[in-house]
Amino acid sequence: MVEATSIWEFVRRFPDDLSCLNHILDTKFGVDRVCNRCGVANSVWLKSNHKVASCYQCGVVVRPMANTMLHHSRIAPRVWFYAMLLFANMPRGTPAHFLERHLSISHKAAWRLGHSIRRHIACLRIGQARIFSNPSYSVQIDETILKNVVDISGNSSSVLVMGIWSREGIMTFPLRDRSKDSIIENICQLVDRRVNIITDDFASYASLSSRGYQHARITHSKGIWVDGNGNNTCGIDSYWSYLKRYFRTTYKRVSMENVISYLKEAEYRYDCSRKGEDMFLKMISSFPDIR
Ligand SMILES: [Zn+2]
Repeated sequence: MVEATSIWEFVRRFPDDLSCLNHILDTKFGVDRVCNRCGVANSVWLKSNHKVASCYQCGVVVRPMANTMLHHSRIAPRVWFYAMLLFANMPRGTPAHFLERHLSISHKAAWRLGHSIRRHIACLRIGQARIFSNPSYSVQIDETILKNVVDISGNSSSVLVMGIWSREGIMTFPLRDRSKDSIIENICQLVDRRVNIITDDFASYASLSSRGYQHARITHSKGIWVDGNGNNTCGIDSYWSYLKRYFRTTYKRVSMENVISYLKEAEYRYDCSRKGEDMFLKMISSFPDIR
């Protein structure tokens, strides 16, 4: 069962801006608020203006929102937290026009809010980046073309996306091209040699065996979807269906430069759902610099 924070839990835990700011401080200094400079516990507290915190022992001043997505924002911290709850609890993404109506803010502010939350998720995601190294789990690798993308001139375009799927998680990223060099270079960086790889029979994957990988090629070109050992690409294929539905129904026009943050949001939501994790609690577990 997927865990989720309800609106009632949210209201109880974050009744005001102060509770949100204190939570950010807790993520940065721990619940015992140890000062980074003097090392004294229970010393870092918000000042009366709530915009800065300081250590009562050594006097060092800390800005809890500096460089995070809340940096220099006129939107109240509790609204940011509530918007994150919406992101977490809406299964197919949170478009700007919904945030605009739901939060009674301008479209520009709603777009910036959503964009910053997506960058926050991307930073959390990149912070967790690791190679696929568990030999107990095969990885399925494929690439697809994502439409719904606009280029810098506002013209409809598309982007080539590569996906690596295993029972541990999903990772996707834009791919330069479908050449062997481009594909193999990414796989060698992201997948440990001890891990079995399953792909279709596209020619660019052919040299994986010579790179030291156990490689199963499923000959989709001949209408074969499962080999004699039960290897298949159902995991990555079902992720592509999920991702394309996500873009088709919610994010219908995404700028090329922001594609990566939308990909990371989709990954984050998918992995949280599969692992039964509370996406909101994960999103507020850390406030990395997004600048
Ligand atoms: Zn101190």
